[in-house]
Amino acid sequence: MKGKKLKITEKYVQEFNERCSNFRAPEFLRFLTESDGNNVSYLDLIVQLENVIKLKPYKQEKKINFTIEEMTAIIEEFYSKYFPKKAEEVKQILNGTHPYFMDQNGKSTVHFEKVNLDENRSSNVGHSGNNPYLNFNVYLKDTIEDLRTTAHELTHAISAHETKIVDAIKENTPKKVFDRLTKDKSFESDSICEIESHIIEKLFNKFLLSKGIMNEEDIKVYENSEKISLVSELSLIREERDVIKCLSFPVTQEDLTALVEKLYKDKNFRLIDRIKKMHDTSRNSEHMFRYVVGRVVADVWFKRFEECETNKERREMLKIFQNYLNKTHELDLESACEELLGLDFTSIVEDYCLGKISDIKTQNNI
Ligand SMILES: [Zn+2]
Repeated sequence: MKGKKLKITEKYVQEFNERCSNFRAPEFLRFLTESDGNNVSYLDLIVQLENVIKLKPYKQEKKINFTIEEMTAIIEEFYSKYFPKKAEEVKQILNGTHPYFMDQNGKSTVHFEKVNLDENRSSNVGHSGNNPYLNFNVYLKDTIEDLRTTAHELTHAISAHETKIVDAIKENTPKKVFDRLTKDKSFESDSICEIESHIIEKLFNKFLLSKGIMNEEDIKVYENSEKISLVSELSLIREERDVIKCLSFPVTQEDLTALVEKLYKDKNFRLIDRIKKMHDTSRNSEHMFRYVVGRVVADVWFKRFEECETNKERREMLKIFQNYLNKTHELDLESACEELLGLDFTSIVEDYCLGKISDIKTQNNI
């Protein structure tokens, strides 16, 4: 294995502890390993998911040459077709007139910026501190992904996750209520916020396909890159859990040194690498779990949407989803799954796995 041997200094341990306490590491991993009534834990589901996903090599999505105006027109058209009640709001966000996306001086907080393909900046929506407005940064690299990510982030922007926070700040909501909306949320309620955006991604692809902006091959490239991301999120969660279960918190220099020594002895370089990543980056299992949830729930939702026999059924699913966006702040993982699909999360994972197994069989003509 390349690179210097990991040396656990006092400073390293301190930084490691800080990172882990930022995301409540031991508590979160306990949450993942608790079993439900059927003796299935979220971690069991993660292992189950990892076992059924088959990958092809990663391919970059194709380039497109849209102006910002053309891009925003396509996105507006998409929302007015699929979610007419949200279309006006989306239009206002994109043209800089939405009151939630304006600072105290009336200046728009929506920024479009062209960046190079290799720049590691991703578009985002969010609020900072007690500012009564949201920021929306869109980084453009001239790929299909730009369009899709803008639609993805817009969904966060119009979801109650974000809008309730802005309302709370504007209305001088008591600290206790406000804290519940932001930092005191349970793991369960935190873990649902990528469902909405991933459902939109899939519907948006369908829309781009109907307009000839994407083709079937592009969809396959997208689906495969989604699976690649999912696999890396799943292994991050599993490996991080394998590290944490060997430690007690706050970690001491002695314990971390002993663990690292043991891992070197066992040639378990994956876990040594995981310890380094836990120290160096803010990509942690709590953050990644919501992407796992988002991708899996969206996949099962979209499959059901595609299998609808009538337009009426399809419209009904869209209507339920549009209403869902207004109450995301009050749902947790199980109630969100119930709301969208009438299933619990375990059944959704099972459906996902069955779908992947039958895809593989079809591809191999079994
Ligand atoms: Zn997102």
